[in-house]
Amino acid sequence: MLKPPINLFGLDHLALRRFFEDLGERPYRANQVLQWIHQQGETDFDSMTNLSKTLRAKLRETTCLEAPSVVNEQVSADGTRKWLLRLDDGNGIEMVFIPEPGRGTLCISSQVGCALNCTFCSTALHGYNRNLTSAEIIGQIWLAHRILETAEKDDRVITNVVFMGMGEPLLNFDNVLSTLNILLNDFAYGLSRRRVTVSTAGVVPKIDELKLVCPISLAISLHAPNDELRNKLVPLNRKYPVASLIDACRRYVSGESRSRITFEYVMLAGVNDSESSARELIRVLCGVPAKVNLIPYNSVPGVNFRRSDTATIDRFRDQLLAAGIMTITRKTRGEDIDAACGQLAGKFRDRTHRSTRWQRYQHTAESMA
Ligand code: SAH
Repeated sequence: MLKPPINLFGLDHLALRRFFEDLGERPYRANQVLQWIHQQGETDFDSMTNLSKTLRAKLRETTCLEAPSVVNEQVSADGTRKWLLRLDDGNGIEMVFIPEPGRGTLCISSQVGCALNCTFCSTALHGYNRNLTSAEIIGQIWLAHRILETAEKDDRVITNVVFMGMGEPLLNFDNVLSTLNILLNDFAYGLSRRRVTVSTAGVVPKIDELKLVCPISLAISLHAPNDELRNKLVPLNRKYPVASLIDACRRYVSGESRSRITFEYVMLAGVNDSESSARELIRVLCGVPAKVNLIPYNSVPGVNFRRSDTATIDRFRDQLLAAGIMTITRKTRGEDIDAACGQLAGKFRDRTHRSTRWQRYQHTAESMA
């Protein structure tokens, strides 16, 4: 049997309205179907009782509702959960839920792997395969709601969604945008813009585009205060240097009196954690409505970076605070199950051959040791 061609998970409100109009139906059907799928968790068209029988039959014939499936779940000692999800083509991606008192953050992936090659990140080492479709990104959110609905604990509500899993969200712009629309839509998840965060390594033109079409919370993976160091840690910097990135951040918040940009800064011992790095960072962020998240580096097997010690992280934080920059040290969560920042790897076929080169390199390094 031929598979129904349209996966309704992939359609945001506007796309669904167009879809129903093309079927000769009234556009408000989009509201009803969004509610069924995302608020009721329904995937059986026959149960969507406020749709006519003919429409239900038409949907059954021409569409499907397929989310990624769970291959494996791991629960950390701190309650963080990580799922390995399988996609239609056999690729695997990872998704993480981080419960905290009064809030629950879902961390989702936007690509199979990542092509940016940040030197300290585990996802990068495994290479890149492809963009996720909008159905695969929205499907993660839908699936997490279904899994957590049946969880026993109180700490299962998803209050925040962050694009901090595998991949660079702004290099999969259209599909990420459909997902943002679904997250914000009152017929679906109805989250406020403050509770949805896109994290980017700094794709400058797309930051401007995001402001125009969907100005949600923005996080920048800065990690270094100057081009010389940032070129080494985040190679994308060669294309969009620090000054151009900071300018884009200023434009992003201009006219929005209450918004701030989050700057992520991974603390790497002896690399970017000195007093002079902190001074440089203070200069770079001068006048930008910013909050800085210092991320203690999470170890990645075979990578030669070390986490800065606590005293150094505290000193760095205190320097920024003294300069009036809101700064926190991000609590490391889920480290025992490799679910912490930069540890997501998934299981997929690497098209870039980066992972093969890496394995060869590791093998040589081991045999030389
Ligand atoms: N590509 C996007 C989304 C990834 S978010 C981005 O770069 O923002 C994941 C965050 O974890 C990024 O800030 C990333 O730089 C950081 N990270 C990657 N590897 C890490 C590691 N080993 N330890 C701590 N943080 C890491």
